[in-house]
Amino acid sequence: MSQLFNLLKQREFEQIVYGYDKYSGLKSIIAIHNTALGPALGGARMMPYATEDEALEDCMRLAKGMTYKNAAAGLDLGGGKAIIIGDPKTDKTEDLLRAFGRLVNGLAGRYITAIDVATDENDIVIVHRETDYCVALPESYGGSGNVSAATAFGLYHGMKSAVEEIFGELPLRGRSVAIQGVGHVGSVLARYLVADGVNVIVADVDEESLKKIIQELKVEAVAPEKIYDLDVDIFSPCALGGILNDDTIPRLKCKLIAGSANNQLLDEERHCKMIEERGIAYGVDYILSAGGIIDCSNELMGYNRDRTYAQMARIAENVKKVFKLAKEKQITTVAAANFIAEHRIQMAINRKAWYEDKTAVRGHEDKTAVRGHFSI
Ligand code: NAD
Repeated sequence: MSQLFNLLKQREFEQIVYGYDKYSGLKSIIAIHNTALGPALGGARMMPYATEDEALEDCMRLAKGMTYKNAAAGLDLGGGKAIIIGDPKTDKTEDLLRAFGRLVNGLAGRYITAIDVATDENDIVIVHRETDYCVALPESYGGSGNVSAATAFGLYHGMKSAVEEIFGELPLRGRSVAIQGVGHVGSVLARYLVADGVNVIVADVDEESLKKIIQELKVEAVAPEKIYDLDVDIFSPCALGGILNDDTIPRLKCKLIAGSANNQLLDEERHCKMIEERGIAYGVDYILSAGGIIDCSNELMGYNRDRTYAQMARIAENVKKVFKLAKEKQITTVAAANFIAEHRIQMAINRKAWYEDKTAVRGHEDKTAVRGHFSI
């Protein structure tokens, strides 16, 4: 068995696809982790990875994360991710994006792409010219439009639910929240919180983003390194992954962590334990940041904003479920969230034990039928 098959076996992946196009220079990897619940949905990230191994590792890590995020969010969707190797500033051309669209199309719906780091809805418009297997289109194309706003909306409601669980009361008024990163998600979250009378303190490495939010909301800012030391009720990481680690956790003085950043814990189980041993509650990142995926996946059944935003209520419910299960089973909140996601995946596998007459779904072989037959 080659090394790649070993990797698939060890990490329990279904499929890894390498796509190369000599005309556009496309170099892309699509990793499909698990499709028990439905087609794999996850964004396409474009980065100038230093090595192909680094690109593959990132793609696999993110794809597995999508399996758990989609499952826990109650979506009938599996987990996958795409990466495009290259500098988005210089290498992102129409040709390259169309070649990527054709690569996605060749998977005939096993993978549905969306936006991620360095890809946006305008890129998806180009990808969409080659495939229907994409979401996160602009509103003018019948898409969801601003996915980050949906993520911030879900995070805000999830945070409120966590506050009720941890502090035993609502509202947020009078509490303090430190937000790390005031980009697309963090800035919208800050607006919700300030409107609620929360004392918001922000940090960002980007001077422009920081200036904009300080001017608009009159919030206090601290140097990026100082954000971990603040004596606040809630710490909200909305910037980078891996920021909860051996160095930063001992510095935290908050009671709750609730943010959107993907993979906040450097070592999932160990660092979650370390946080909880310090008497801090950890609101699981992929539960709290599911708003964006709930939003754009709704395009698959014909986008409707009211229906989509009503589904976001699942985030607040899930936050409570996770804390309750963690308490009952005496496990970390990360282990509880994983348990909930894995349980839904197992239910889907069990359902497939029943014989199904495939002629009933023959209409779906037409690729144009991709929109409209998902129950999400
Ligand atoms: P973004 O790039 O718009 O914003 C991130 C911000 O963090 C930027 O302003 C950046 O300057 C800042 N930052 C980077 N390093 C920092 C540091 N060391 N200290 C403080 N600030 C720092 O990204 P976003 O779309 O707002 O997403 C934020 C996080 O949430 C990311 O981890 C992303 O993967 C995750 N997420 C986003 C969405 C979405 O819909 N946008 C959905 C799910 C998860």
